[in-house]
Amino acid sequence: MENNQIPKERLAKLDKLFECMSIIAEDSHVYLCDMKYDYSKWSKTLVSLFGLPDEYMVGAGDLWEQHIHPDDRKVYHEGIETIFAGKSDEHDMQYRAVKPNGEYEVCSCRGIVLKDEDGNMEYFCGAIKNHSEQHHIDSLTGLRDQFGFFKDLSNYIDNHMKVNVGLIGVDRFAQINELYGYKGGNKILQECGRMLQEVVGNQGKAYRMDGTKFGIISTLEDIKIIEDSYNKLCDRLIKGVSVDGRSIVLELYAGMVGVKDFNTDAQTVYACLNFAFDESRDLKQGDIVEFKGSSNRDEKKSIEQLYTIRNSISHNFEGFYLLYQPIIDAETEKIIGAEALLRWKNEEFGIVPPDEFIPVLEKDSMFPALGEWILKTAVKASLKFIRLLPSFIINVNLSYSQIEKNNFVEIVKNVIEDSDYPPKQLCLEITERCRLLDMGLLKNTMYKLKSDGIRIALDDFGTGFSSMGLVKALPFDTIKIDRSFVQKIEDDEREKTLVSKFTEVANLYDAKVCVEGIETPGMAEILRRYSVHSFQGYYYSKPVEETEIINMIKKDYVS
Ligand code: C2E
Ligand code: CA
Ligand code: CA
Repeated sequence: MENNQIPKERLAKLDKLFECMSIIAEDSHVYLCDMKYDYSKWSKTLVSLFGLPDEYMVGAGDLWEQHIHPDDRKVYHEGIETIFAGKSDEHDMQYRAVKPNGEYEVCSCRGIVLKDEDGNMEYFCGAIKNHSEQHHIDSLTGLRDQFGFFKDLSNYIDNHMKVNVGLIGVDRFAQINELYGYKGGNKILQECGRMLQEVVGNQGKAYRMDGTKFGIISTLEDIKIIEDSYNKLCDRLIKGVSVDGRSIVLELYAGMVGVKDFNTDAQTVYACLNFAFDESRDLKQGDIVEFKGSSNRDEKKSIEQLYTIRNSISHNFEGFYLLYQPIIDAETEKIIGAEALLRWKNEEFGIVPPDEFIPVLEKDSMFPALGEWILKTAVKASLKFIRLLPSFIINVNLSYSQIEKNNFVEIVKNVIEDSDYPPKQLCLEITERCRLLDMGLLKNTMYKLKSDGIRIALDDFGTGFSSMGLVKALPFDTIKIDRSFVQKIEDDEREKTLVSKFTEVANLYDAKVCVEGIETPGMAEILRRYSVHSFQGYYYSKPVEETEIINMIKKDYVS
């Protein structure tokens, strides 16, 4: 709002006083009115929560009155009138105020009048507490909890306020609980919460998320605020937290993301935040990671794209489709199956490859629904392939987060039964990321699936830390050797040796070998010398539409 009445120096004073009040007020929203000009400044949070016109307002009292419940308005009006008439120096009242969505919040509002040296009313300052906000408090740390986090974040996004968000986790907390007991663990979390609150100060708000995670939201422009708070917290924790006289050293990891555009929602921002958080833990030894999105898009586009993709899941999977890459028998060079590969497209973003969204969304609560759709769609297509080639096997990729769901086996079985699909002709591909799961759970799930005849393949063999360990521990039917091991096999003797060793390992555990990324006839020629069962790669075919697979089967078998 333009102001042409309040002089510059008065405005500067208003700003300075307001800043002092905001620091002291912590969790309350504050307001400050220069009564000589009836010119006010209100907390941004209050402005966004109630959809007020601006943080600077002329005649804020009247504007605010419009937000107050009709039944409470009279009392409010009289209270304000007595103050401006100089009949009272303070007010303390409760009323209901309406938000832009029409819901009412119960607010407590306290204010006092400050007079100048001549005894004239100069400032009216105070704080408004929104009671429903007080409910989202974590009882252990006293910080706002994850519901508060989502509520606040949604509010900022809805009101087009730029924010920077951080997510911090404590490493190996299960071990801490084991060593120091539940009580000790709680004390440590309390201490972490307290320190976080201290380092964030008035630069933002600290939250206790689920488990051992903490959040930060800051409305200040620079994302460095989040990084600085995190680094300060790490510096403190590296000195150790004292619990019952013992000093415990904690390690942290953290992700952060800047929300500069508002064509998104809190859930999508949280998925991005979680992705950066995982990278910090898995790849950066705890250095904070900023979410940058996929390499070929900027971060803003990336968050928008993810939001649109995430929304497609709840809109009947609009824009999603599957392509199929043939799997070829190494001996006969005929098609024996195919791997289903996910794609998404829409008018604005074009065709988006799975690497750009699966890694970010696979931990999202929406992903299992997409996983089920993929399975159903692939099985339905495969039934058409089986009609032409009765031994055809369809491979479907799984994310580890799908396997984690306790009804996962049931979902797979239901899909198979509902479509009357032969279970032996379904092969589920899992990657080494599944080592993040509890091994007992994974083993159990695999045995249940296998007891029905479903096959399981280990994808991208050799790219992780524990390939050999997994093959030893789990009953895989097929090992898929990643293309990075065969790219130079025509010239590189070491790659040949590696592949021969890999196939020996697979044979030892009765698993078949499929080699991915065959791009030339020379590669196929060499690999045929080892006990490789099947091939997959651009030399035979890129991922293609259903009808192309039908054509290939016809070409290889029917004619
Ligand atoms: P992946 O499972 O290892 O799939 C193989 C990828 O390698 C595919 O990329 C495929 O197009 C590509 N590829 C195949 N042959 C060649 C070749 O000869 N040369 C080269 N340079 N590349 C080749 P795509 O389709 O982009 O998929 C990327 C990854 O996305 C997949 O890697 C998989 O991890 C994931 N993904 C794809 N679809 C799904 C799905 O339905 N569910 C889940 N959870 N993940 C999926
Ligand atoms: Ca795969
Ligand atoms: Ca692969």
